[in-house]
Amino acid sequence: MENRILGIHHITAIAGTAKRNFNFYTNVLGLRFVKKTVNFDDPETYHFYFGNETGSPGTILTFFPWEGTAPGRRGTGMATEIGYSVPAGSLDFWLTRFQERGILYNKPTERFGETYLPFLDPDGLKLELIVSKTADERAPWETADVNADVATKGFHNVTLTLESIKNTADLLTDIFSYQLVEQHVNRYRFTTDAVPNAALVDLVEVPGEKRGQVASGTIHHVAFRVKDDAAQMAFRERIAARGFNVTEPLDRNYFHSIYFREPGGVLFEIATDNPGFTVDEPLGELGTNLKLPPQYEPRRAQIESQLPVL
Ligand code: ZN
Repeated sequence: MENRILGIHHITAIAGTAKRNFNFYTNVLGLRFVKKTVNFDDPETYHFYFGNETGSPGTILTFFPWEGTAPGRRGTGMATEIGYSVPAGSLDFWLTRFQERGILYNKPTERFGETYLPFLDPDGLKLELIVSKTADERAPWETADVNADVATKGFHNVTLTLESIKNTADLLTDIFSYQLVEQHVNRYRFTTDAVPNAALVDLVEVPGEKRGQVASGTIHHVAFRVKDDAAQMAFRERIAARGFNVTEPLDRNYFHSIYFREPGGVLFEIATDNPGFTVDEPLGELGTNLKLPPQYEPRRAQIESQLPVL
């Protein structure tokens, strides 16, 4: 049990403007701002984490907001859609909210027996609110105007768009122990029974489609979840044995990560549950302080003066 992939850990995307990104995900979508830190490779830009109260794996959407970066393009070789689970009966609330706030959306539609509302964030990132046909007992984060009756509970699925699904499907089934559960036209849905939620990966096969371009409004990588460092190391060995070029474990402060590019071109990460977001901030204060990794603390004043005001 311990050495299983436990669904999605987090998804990381790129945004154009920090303030606009922050406002959308906190005020419009009602997520908790779980952590305000910097890009460890570029400390004068932010790294934002949004999620539920504790930032549980399976709820964490992270952004690198790069002011003024060019828009990316959805295409093959990338993750292209993020599905959030919402309660039954909540879609009318969200439709009204999107109308009032000028959010771009499409009418709710049905797929695999589930109704979903597709919409775009201010940078054009594609998201969906989905009423899951399986129970979702996860407690949502609530805000003044997004209460538990309607609030997102965390991820439902992630969609990868691929030139060919074959090798990616093999990786999911052979190494991650996922199973193909549904298929409609060119969309293949895979799941794991290791976790009740955030378990779905959809592969969409679009031969001949242009490759995507990762920049603002697109997804940078998808992180899968493991329990701890030992489980991560076991997967690292299996991935390396299949011939993939996988990194050494990296300390991301809130989890430990390995990265590799799956055969369809999407950057995958495997991230641990430990240590979590309360490692450097009490639960009640998550997201309220700018947190820097130790190597940047001496430069705090300079870094703070360079970062955009939210
Ligand atoms: Zn990541």
